[in-house]
Amino acid sequence: MKPYNMFIDGAAAEPATGSYFESENPYTGAPWARVAQGDAADVDRAVRAAHDAFSDGPWPQLTASERGALMRRLGDVIADNARRLAEIEVRDNGKLFAEMYGQLTYLPQWFYYFGGLADKIEGTVVPLDKKGYFVYTQKKPVGVVAIITPWNSPLMLLGWKLAPALAAGCTVVIKPSEYTSASTIELVELLHEAGLPRGVVNVVTGFGKDVGTPLVEHPLVRKISFTGSDVTGRVINEAAARGFKHVALELGGKSPNIVFADADLEAAANGVVSGIFAATGQTCIAGSRLLVQHSIHDEFVSTLVDLARPARMGDPMSDSTEVGPITTRAQYAKVLDYVDIAQREGAAVALGGGAADRPECGQGWFVEPTIFTGVDNGMRIAQEEVFGPVLAVIPFSDEDAAVELANDVRFGLGAGVWTTDIGRAFRMADRITSGTVWVNTYRAVSYMAPFGGFKDSGLGRENGIGAIEEYLENKTVWINTGAAVGNPFVMR
Ligand code: ADP
Repeated sequence: MKPYNMFIDGAAAEPATGSYFESENPYTGAPWARVAQGDAADVDRAVRAAHDAFSDGPWPQLTASERGALMRRLGDVIADNARRLAEIEVRDNGKLFAEMYGQLTYLPQWFYYFGGLADKIEGTVVPLDKKGYFVYTQKKPVGVVAIITPWNSPLMLLGWKLAPALAAGCTVVIKPSEYTSASTIELVELLHEAGLPRGVVNVVTGFGKDVGTPLVEHPLVRKISFTGSDVTGRVINEAAARGFKHVALELGGKSPNIVFADADLEAAANGVVSGIFAATGQTCIAGSRLLVQHSIHDEFVSTLVDLARPARMGDPMSDSTEVGPITTRAQYAKVLDYVDIAQREGAAVALGGGAADRPECGQGWFVEPTIFTGVDNGMRIAQEEVFGPVLAVIPFSDEDAAVELANDVRFGLGAGVWTTDIGRAFRMADRITSGTVWVNTYRAVSYMAPFGGFKDSGLGRENGIGAIEEYLENKTVWINTGAAVGNPFVMR
């Protein structure tokens, strides 16, 4: 089995404990790699390396344009290695190769885009209300950033944070998910081969309590950027508050896909099915609640069932596979638990409803694409994030009722609206409390378009020009150009 060490101060690093843990392949259920099990001592080494690289050495000496040029080279090296990195991700998280490869071939754009912004970070001159002073502002990188990532799209979600952090001039310590560490280690090695100075990007692998906790609590870490569950997000937010650290949290969702009777129903069915069954439902923006207008409920549900029933399951590396396994054993058990809970709550199974017992699924952790009808928005299946291929169908009468149902959850990450009425599209987009609303499409993202959540779905925004501000501090400089510095007891 391939051993993976951590990466600290420009070199592979063995864990202080000397221990390694196994990473399992969700399709075979068998371990395929051994990963260094870090602890607080490794975190301290990595954070100090990042702090030294931030304060001294080649990184702070680079001009902003040189930093941008380096980032374009980093983008190129990701593009050159997209296939190999995608294959590693599939081995670790079991998502379809087509999806992971698509993410990896798109990822260089984050480095090109934010690399392009690196030398466009400008301060201002303040048109002051007092005479005898020149006052200007500067934007300074916040310092050492802790990046904590989940298992569902490891490198893409890392890139959303790493690219703006580097463009701003920060240095970084990454803690990847314990389920999917390998691709992050390989990527960071490649970035160093492409010329990244040592200490600027470090990786400490291991478990949340051993590595994540000391990382977020380390006094030299100035910002924490996290994608993961709301439970862990809350713990991190509290730790950040205690240390007066900047924090960005991209958490869960219970996103509604809202289908009106006037919609293009074929397009809507495609969007709803891909919204929940693509990535086996393991995305924070999964459209896990279908709100469908009463008059088309039965017809639309039967269209969905016909569309999803023939979906081919099996080897995620195969081009013909349409639904892959669940990434972790724990998540597999959790999804099946929710399938039981929904039935106990009184929901009716329209499709699936359990573990997949198909020969092509082998020993993998597969769950049948599942559709529940007769769901009330108050049920747990409608309120809690399942993170699996489970759709809850809830009927509504009119626009006002649809808005009320859409907003009646503690999350607010994404929402889909399917209608051919342009006025209704704008009204719905305006009234839904979520960070993104997609009209007649679903699950589209771009490095240019801000992304993030309302309510319990998180804090801060990734992507788009504004994302770089998340890694910058404002400084104000006052220069006395002639004002008298007189009586010390009179405030001017
Ligand atoms: P999941 O349970 O789906 O893996 P988590 O939110 O727990 O989702 O995990 C996302 C990331 O957060 C992972 O890298 C995980 O190791 C890390 N993590 C878990 N617990 C903590 C914690 N207390 N502090 C910091 N990071 C943590």
